[in-house]
Amino acid sequence: MARVAFIGLGRMGHGMAGRYLDAGHTVAIWNRSKAKAEDLIARGARWATSPEDAAVDADAVVTMVADDEASRAVWLGPTGAAKTAKAGTIAIECSTVSYDHARELGRELNARGLMYIDCPVTGLPDAAAAGKLTLLVGADAADLERARPFLEPIGSTIRHFGAVGSGTVYKLINNLMGAIQIAGLAEGLAIAEQAGLDMKLVLEAIQGGVAASPQVLRHSKRMVARDFAGATFTAALRHKDAAYAVKLAESLLAGKPLVARAAVEAYAQAKAAMPDEDEGRMIELVSRPK
Ligand code: NAP
Repeated sequence: MARVAFIGLGRMGHGMAGRYLDAGHTVAIWNRSKAKAEDLIARGARWATSPEDAAVDADAVVTMVADDEASRAVWLGPTGAAKTAKAGTIAIECSTVSYDHARELGRELNARGLMYIDCPVTGLPDAAAAGKLTLLVGADAADLERARPFLEPIGSTIRHFGAVGSGTVYKLINNLMGAIQIAGLAEGLAIAEQAGLDMKLVLEAIQGGVAASPQVLRHSKRMVARDFAGATFTAALRHKDAAYAVKLAESLLAGKPLVARAAVEAYAQAKAAMPDEDEGRMIELVSRPK
């Protein structure tokens, strides 16, 4: 089996790293805080002292960290994986990063002889742990074929959008649309509550109505019940994705984004108030105290 370096063991990365162990690969892991690695070490992973250490002799390096800053640090920082990854190593960036960063990182790693795959994902942490993520790939077709054995343990669907960066474009529009829907849902529900509607009936109507995307279906029950236990996606991460999407929109759209800016502003407020809480708590910003 192959040697995989896996970096970033948060809600998503922890389950993904476990999938490489389950597939029988030799896995080296690193996370900024070691506590999250203990059970993976018990399952046979090697704890690396740095991303640089994890990447020694790796056939593939897979990263799943928060944002551009974290991605830059683990790949290109003073102890980054690029320091030791040998020429020909397959570099797979699964974090949701900005379009500019995805392309810059690709150029930087290619210049060092690595093969780079842009591979953000959709799916919640339970899908990550089950190997059922959807992988949004930007890569040369030949590079994708080489990377495929390292994508199969973590994803059940691979969508190849085109060249490096295109997976990130899709991921950002996907999460921007999610941000707009969730913020819109929060305001809609808050209005209905304040107007005194029967919220059981409102929920029933939403669930059977045309405005209900899977995002809306998932968040509407939690918002009405004000039950935000088990945060899977935080306000800070949603804000980050929407902000990256707006930056991209500003460079591409003639008329500049309109609703996207409002979503970023809404999530900037949610992030300031509750960065690590479930993104659905957005409703608390707009509703009157109960
Ligand atoms: P998370 O639980 O907050 O984990 C973030 C990870 O990034 C942790 O390993 C954290 O290390 C690391 N990190 C943060 N800043 C760092 C830095 N400066 N240097 C090095 N490491 C750093 O987030 P997550 O939910 O797993 O999300 C990870 C990525 O997947 C994000 O890009 C997110 O947008 C994307 N995503 C998430 C979901 C979801 O449902 N959660 C779904 C699809 C995609 P520590 O453990 O030390 O803090």
